[in-house]
Amino acid sequence: MSYCLPFAAIDTRVFSDSYAVALQCRAELLTKLSCPIQSVPYLCSGTGPQGEQLITDTVWIGPENASRVLVLIAGTHGIEGFAGSAVQLDMLNLLVEGLIDIPDHTAVLMVHALTPWGYAWQRRCDAKGVDLNRNVIDFSRSLPENKAYDLLKSTLYLADSSPRKIALAEFEQQHGRVALEIALSGGQYSDPTGPFYGGTAPAHGRLVCEDLIQRYALQQRYLAVIDLHTGLGPYGYGEIICDHQPDSAGTRAAQHWYGDSVTLPLLGTSSSVPKTGLLDYVWHAIMNERSCYVTLEFGTFSTDQLFEILLRDHQLWSQDDNELARLKHRKIMRHHFCPNDQAWQELVLFRARQVIAQGLQGTC
Ligand SMILES: [Zn+2]
Repeated sequence: MSYCLPFAAIDTRVFSDSYAVALQCRAELLTKLSCPIQSVPYLCSGTGPQGEQLITDTVWIGPENASRVLVLIAGTHGIEGFAGSAVQLDMLNLLVEGLIDIPDHTAVLMVHALTPWGYAWQRRCDAKGVDLNRNVIDFSRSLPENKAYDLLKSTLYLADSSPRKIALAEFEQQHGRVALEIALSGGQYSDPTGPFYGGTAPAHGRLVCEDLIQRYALQQRYLAVIDLHTGLGPYGYGEIICDHQPDSAGTRAAQHWYGDSVTLPLLGTSSSVPKTGLLDYVWHAIMNERSCYVTLEFGTFSTDQLFEILLRDHQLWSQDDNELARLKHRKIMRHHFCPNDQAWQELVLFRARQVIAQGLQGTC
């Protein structure tokens, strides 16, 4: 499918230093837009490191009665909002300068900082340790089990990493790499202090999405949802991950709009393994046959590094008296999820422009 890539220089200054600065830049750009907008902020409980309020800021850009909507989500995983926010700011700049065309009958819904606590504190999860992208399950039923996680748990948080590395290597040798990654990152509901914990009730970001769907009657429109993530896959590459069922209208739409670079965890073609409780499922449930939800995942460093860094993060946050160590670790987290490297940032912005243009064209 042909699409129109915005022709404009890439400017990495859209990568902000903090959640608070990103929010301010965004607010300033929104005042410069000439098209109609509707802002709806969602207050989240808790505060940021400077005592600041935490808000998921949403804005509808374009006609209220648009039959097609591109939904651009940043910060599903808090800290990944650094890159997601930059992508949104880049698109707002292009809109302000008149360098991107939004097709007729189309609106853009930008969701900024879906997990604002994690963004502000530079963690993936929310204040309760919940991973929003494992939170979309039916909480009226018994919680899913992840027996392999429970089996490995005793080695995961040891200060000495050697026994953990041995245990993980043995598990991988016995069950394979995919099984290991599912054990660690597929989602677990038994250990609130551990990573990839899905919680016991709908999290803030899930409630925001459900409210947006209702508020804008999104089930009645054609949707291209792009959920921006970082930290998995090859350095600088933006992988389009589709978690619709392989033989479904959603997958057919994704492949038609975004082409052969679409990958499917359920077919084993993705950097991501199949996971429980994805945010996708809130949207899949209301989507029609001309809609799809994709994750645009920008790679940084290896998956083993990701696991080590996250395990350390959760270890530090489960103890009370090590604020200094947490502060130090925040920098490591930032480096993993949003490297301060102009080349990486340029790759992110270019690929995002490409995928957004494809998504805008797709719903037509
Ligand atoms: Zn993520």
